[in-house]
Amino acid sequence: MHYYEVICSSCRNKFRVYEGSLRFRQLKERTDKIFRCEECYSKIRMDAIKNFFR
Ligand SMILES: [Zn+2]
Repeated sequence: MHYYEVICSSCRNKFRVYEGSLRFRQLKERTDKIFRCEECYSKIRMDAIKNFFR
């Protein structure tokens, strides 16, 4: 399986973006310069939800 190794913009950890995923396409087309690993991505989503209910 094809994948890119990307540095997470939040935690600076390396993570893999696999072929066929939305992020892989974004990476290939360079539509987004900020990439976050799954962990940071869900953390940010959780924070957004928490803020929403505050
Ligand atoms: Zn991260």
